[in-house]
Amino acid sequence: MNIPEIFGSMVFNDKAMKKYLSPDIYAALKRTVSDGKRLDIHLANDIAKGMKDWAVSLGATHYSHWFQPMTGITAEKHDSFISPDGSDGVIMEFSGKELVKGESDASSFPTGGLRATFEARGYTAWDPTSYAFVKEDVLYIPTAFCSYGGHSLDQKTPLLRSMECLNKQAVRILKLFGQDYTTIKPTVGAEQEYFLIDKNLYNKRKDLIYTGRTLFGARAPKGQEMDDHYFGTIKPRVAQFMREVDEELWKLGVLVKTEHNEVAPSQHELAPIFSTTNIACDHNQLIMEVMQKIAGKHGLVCLLHEKPFESVNGSGKHNNWSISTPDGRNLLEPGETPYQNAQFLLFLCAVIKAVDEYQDLLRISVASAGNDHRLGANEAPPAIISMFLGDEISGILDAIENDSDYEGIEKEQMKVGVHVLPKFPKDTTDRNRTSPFAFTGNKFEFRMPGSSSSIARANTVINTAVAQSLKSYADRLENAENFEDALHKLIKKTIKDHKRIVFNGNGYDDEWIAQAEKRGLLNLRTTPECLPYLLKEKNIELFESNKVFTREELEARYEVYLDNYVKTLNIEALTMVNTVSKDILPAISEFTSHLCKNFSQQLNLMPDLVGSYEKTTAQKLSDISETVWSLGTEIKAAMVELRTLETNYKKAMMFVDKIIPAMNSLREQVDNAEVLTAREYWPLPTYGEILYSV
Ligand code: ADP
Ligand code: MG
Repeated sequence: MNIPEIFGSMVFNDKAMKKYLSPDIYAALKRTVSDGKRLDIHLANDIAKGMKDWAVSLGATHYSHWFQPMTGITAEKHDSFISPDGSDGVIMEFSGKELVKGESDASSFPTGGLRATFEARGYTAWDPTSYAFVKEDVLYIPTAFCSYGGHSLDQKTPLLRSMECLNKQAVRILKLFGQDYTTIKPTVGAEQEYFLIDKNLYNKRKDLIYTGRTLFGARAPKGQEMDDHYFGTIKPRVAQFMREVDEELWKLGVLVKTEHNEVAPSQHELAPIFSTTNIACDHNQLIMEVMQKIAGKHGLVCLLHEKPFESVNGSGKHNNWSISTPDGRNLLEPGETPYQNAQFLLFLCAVIKAVDEYQDLLRISVASAGNDHRLGANEAPPAIISMFLGDEISGILDAIENDSDYEGIEKEQMKVGVHVLPKFPKDTTDRNRTSPFAFTGNKFEFRMPGSSSSIARANTVINTAVAQSLKSYADRLENAENFEDALHKLIKKTIKDHKRIVFNGNGYDDEWIAQAEKRGLLNLRTTPECLPYLLKEKNIELFESNKVFTREELEARYEVYLDNYVKTLNIEALTMVNTVSKDILPAISEFTSHLCKNFSQQLNLMPDLVGSYEKTTAQKLSDISETVWSLGTEIKAAMVELRTLETNYKKAMMFVDKIIPAMNSLREQVDNAEVLTAREYWPLPTYGEILYSV
């Protein structure tokens, strides 16, 4: 395989554009992209023609506006290029209008009330900053999705807006340090975790099919305690899958770099090289799609759920984030001179302030029914947001705050703008794996996002919150009489005001939860508990003043996320009671009577027989069966009551307070029954079979 040759071969990138567009059209398009200007329709016609010719040369017959509705996955609608030629034939056509704008029926997507029923139309608008690509004979055009009234209905529009506001504020700060840039961009590398399991076993589990996770399943005798899966040898079938995924993604221009096993059995990770945030976000969606498709070809299923199996680790998506200038300078890289370091410290402080002030928004940005199972469990960061900076940086910040000596360098007072900071070797900053938001030498790693969700949500919040910090800094510094003095004071004040968010210890420790509470940090355990914070005035103010969301858009998103939560739990509860009555209770009953029959037959011939195994097991199973029956009935009744509640918030809270605890008890009972029941009677593939099948 010639990787440089296949890389990006299905992407309408610079190379393809230069071949299929005339030099002045190409230059005009580049200008439009770099200046963020509206595209002229004549220009659009020429670009559309070039793009179509290129796509047809790769076998494309259809085109599709590709967008990311609030469901978190991507949506597409295929139209063919054909157009009648006037003499019983067809020609392949694609106009500028079709490229730039598409109409879509918004009523099939979540809108949170932004679309009045009489106005079902929504539209998709081309995002020329992300390349079009060909996949399975379809030309995909990355787009943003809006209501007819111009409200965003997708994940991408707010992300693009947040990049814009971060750009604006970071450019102001850089100017203060004597650096003239017109654009900066946030960069993201998202590591993707997933499970791969056998398709035949998957097909026998309704819970996996309907909900993406197992609702039942006793733990296997072997879990992840041996630590033998992580970086272990990759099995041939999985290796083949990974090679094919790499190849397909390389063709689509995704910089896939690393593929390895993860901690849990059957769990793996894929990491691309970082890129500009909206591209990273598009690529992450492609990664998820391609993995699922290729898995099917290998008789496998790729599970992207945050917690497909109890008792082994769940899956996340580590979002590595930084800011970069167009010439590739990383603004979170400590510099070579005191001045560069003062700038580094200011950007670092902007992030600290942002994370502390908008903890609630960061928590919300990763909230979903699936991720609730993961956050706060003993393997993922807790639901409390805190930051890890490592001893060196913390030491420097301490010294600045207290005007005290810093031990690290020549033991004198740290003064911003005078001292060169030590380099922070990655291995000293990266050791803490339990922190939700960790500084790893030259970037921050946000570890809370769930494996199935779009990274757009988290990055929209990070970009906007950091932009807000930078804005307040720029406002102050632009008018300062003595810049260095003001800078020093500003950094000192940020540290003083926001150091409560810094925690370098073990985030899995119970003691931390108590301490975090003392520090006044939020601990929002579930999705319904955190979502109302989205509509707090300070948060609406943040998004409105930075032009990322309007109040209406936020209210709509609040509704959509709650609705999604309620629907997910609804499906889980229904699947649970259905499986119990169709499969589990009949199996328990069948096996119990098998034990009883066997024992009474044996008793006929052997009147002295004690029958401890048969008697105790049958008794235990009968008891479990009673409890399972009553819990199932309780859940069904609660589901009926649920329908009478008027708001999604009330419904969501009823799941949290009442139905989920009942579902957990039900599961526990069923798992106990599984352990007691003979294999041939148990209706579902077991954890052992699923997790060690591939
Ligand atoms: P890990 O130890 O977590 O595997 P790596 O250094 O391999 O860390 O990086 C993990 C991810 O972070 C990769 O996707 C990488 O491309 C990304 N990354 C590296 N530098 C940056 C940066 N400046 N901005 C954003 N992401 C980055
Ligand atoms: Mg990592």
